[in-house]
Amino acid sequence: MSGLKPLIAGNWKMHGRRANLEEIPALIRETGAALSRVEVVVCPPAPYIEAARAHIGGAAIAVGGQDCSPVSADAARTGEVSAGMLRDAGASFVIVGHSERRSLLGETDDLVRQKANAANAAGLAPIVCVGETQAQRADGKAAEVVAAQVAASTPDDPAGLVVAYEPVWAIGGDRTPTAEEIAEIHGVVRAELSRRYGKAGEAVRILYGGSVNAKNAKEILAIDGVDGALVGRACLKAADFSAIVLAAPGAR
Ligand code: PEP
Repeated sequence: MSGLKPLIAGNWKMHGRRANLEEIPALIRETGAALSRVEVVVCPPAPYIEAARAHIGGAAIAVGGQDCSPVSADAARTGEVSAGMLRDAGASFVIVGHSERRSLLGETDDLVRQKANAANAAGLAPIVCVGETQAQRADGKAAEVVAAQVAASTPDDPAGLVVAYEPVWAIGGDRTPTAEEIAEIHGVVRAELSRRYGKAGEAVRILYGGSVNAKNAKEILAIDGVDGALVGRACLKAADFSAIVLAAPGAR
């Protein structure tokens, strides 16, 4: 870990219903005082953002969206949700460029950068996802691919920016890179952020994402250059997610 405050973000993806928001009070109980030492963000589906905020009450947990429109102003964009609307509903973060959206919906680096800029304009902190495919890693191109994604998908202004390194092949399965592989790519991301933003790039947190769970979190979160985690499946149950929060360096 660097000297930055650890950030653990949970991405519900398209899972759950209103009843699942009951996991939030359980998360608050199980993490207790760690919430002052570790920043925690829950990213439920957009229709539940406002209700998630109500379940959080005064606890130090932030809410994030899972995507936003690249268009900031109100517009004829059926089905789109603007960053300003997410903010109005109680979000303070938004995930952009998740690999599922890049691969299933064809989102490009340029579109992701526009979304990150729209997030900034609305006062939301963008969590920009990057990561190589299995084929790109097998070709020895992981570092090159990730550096190019960081260069082209991050916003013009680094204020509040978070980058999540999520190797596509590690998401949703049971494989994770080795500690050395994670440290190497986090170093690549950090170098690219410094190139792009100068000194301001040092304040950007770099999360690891891809099959983080209650068992491997402590080891992953202790890797040099890892400032937190973006968690998919293991954020859905408070027992698992709280174990990950409590595994962050300095949490206890
Ligand atoms: C994700 O999709 O962002 C993710 C990290 O998923 P999982 O933790 O389930 O691999």
